[in-house]
Amino acid sequence: MTTFKRNVYERAVYQEPAPIRDNENPFEAMVERFDVAAKILGLDPGLYEYLVTPSRIHITAIPVVMDDGRLRVFEGYRVIHNEILGPSKGGIRYAPDVHLEEVKALAAWMTWKCALVNVPFGGAKGGVICNPKEMSPGELERLTRRYTANMIDVFGPDKDIPAPDMNTNEQIMAWILDTYSMHSRRTENAVVTGKPIILGGSRGRREATGRGVMTVTLAAMERLGMRPGDSTVAVQGFGNVGSIAAQLLRDQGCRIVAISDVTGGYHNAGGIDIDAAIAYAAAHGNTLEGFPGAEPITNDELITCACDVLVPAAKEDQVTRHNAPNIQAKIIAEGANGPTTPRADDILNERGIMVIPDILANAGGVTVSYFEWVQDRQGYFWTTERVNSRLDRMMRTAFDQVFDVAQKHDVSLRIAAYVDSIRKVADALRLRGIYA
Ligand code: NAD
Repeated sequence: MTTFKRNVYERAVYQEPAPIRDNENPFEAMVERFDVAAKILGLDPGLYEYLVTPSRIHITAIPVVMDDGRLRVFEGYRVIHNEILGPSKGGIRYAPDVHLEEVKALAAWMTWKCALVNVPFGGAKGGVICNPKEMSPGELERLTRRYTANMIDVFGPDKDIPAPDMNTNEQIMAWILDTYSMHSRRTENAVVTGKPIILGGSRGRREATGRGVMTVTLAAMERLGMRPGDSTVAVQGFGNVGSIAAQLLRDQGCRIVAISDVTGGYHNAGGIDIDAAIAYAAAHGNTLEGFPGAEPITNDELITCACDVLVPAAKEDQVTRHNAPNIQAKIIAEGANGPTTPRADDILNERGIMVIPDILANAGGVTVSYFEWVQDRQGYFWTTERVNSRLDRMMRTAFDQVFDVAQKHDVSLRIAAYVDSIRKVADALRLRGIYA
């Protein structure tokens, strides 16, 4: 079992029981899927080694003077997995349980995700071990600015472009933009995406990942002959991805029967009022705790509840070999990164449940991040309609592409997504050659 270095202070504070995981190491979970795709592609062993290995790993100590005057040192990471298709791109995660293996896996997924939706970026990911829920805005700002300053030679509009992920938001992107710009002596708004619109953000970016989840879910329903108006949906995680996916699928006629967040799940077979849930969470410190419009259930009960579509939109390793045999959904649309373990995948495949894999289902975020970067560099900003119609088209094209590859090789959509994206990156690498 891999052990992960932790901030001493955090270890003293966080003593949550370890979750039941099929894969202690998410990077190994990524490599396991990669291996199957590599075999189908007949990938040369040297090329295999190159594509699976992160290109660079940056680990940094981030000293922060807390509001009470104490000095604390946080550990931060930025992993550049691959830059063959373009500058690397990927979010930054703030959480107490961030660890390097997770960041490595997330960086690799970014490489495959960008290739899959034909966005000219490589893959990266960042993370800081901290608990933003216990930090003041001032502490978060100092942490973000120092992390950015420590990564000043890593980040850059033509090098590596961060974005939001779990517990990071538009405000944090604005601080990154400002810190980077102060060092560059000019405003560099293309250095991050997911910024506020006034600072060069894109219309539609906030909703993009949830919107992409909706688009591919509708495409999958079509293939299975399911009608949104007759379908029920359960959504795990009620943050950016989960709440927007729930709202947009509701707008398409689906009945949302369960939602959840870190505080637990909420079930109503008659349908949950999603706008009321969003308003409730906004008024209660971004949690659903105590939400009156539904019966409380556990997060594990949500995963196996009666529904046609399950959208895991919280975190990794939620669909495991323990709950996969009891899942009732016909479609799983992975809003989160890595929510299904490889063991669970085997069970779901055997049971004929269609899993729209993370690197496809949640690629709407990076697609509109790409639009944002293009708009920043042009200094010309698009309408919401233009953003959404281009996003819908790219997601739809990617879904159809993956579906065709799955049929051709008689594999799951996940393996097909890996085959398609690894093939593209491998082709680009062959053309570029190896610099010696
Ligand atoms: P977020 O911080 O806005 O929301 C996360 C949600 O998950 C919160 O409601 C939180 O309470 C809940 N949660 C956390 N731990 C949980 C647990 N153990 N059980 C149930 N719920 C839990 O984050 P987000 O941006 O919505 O990201 C969610 C997932 O989607 C992550 O895996 C992220 O990597 C992935 N993702 C996000 C984007 C994006 O654009 N935001 C893009 C691609 C992928």
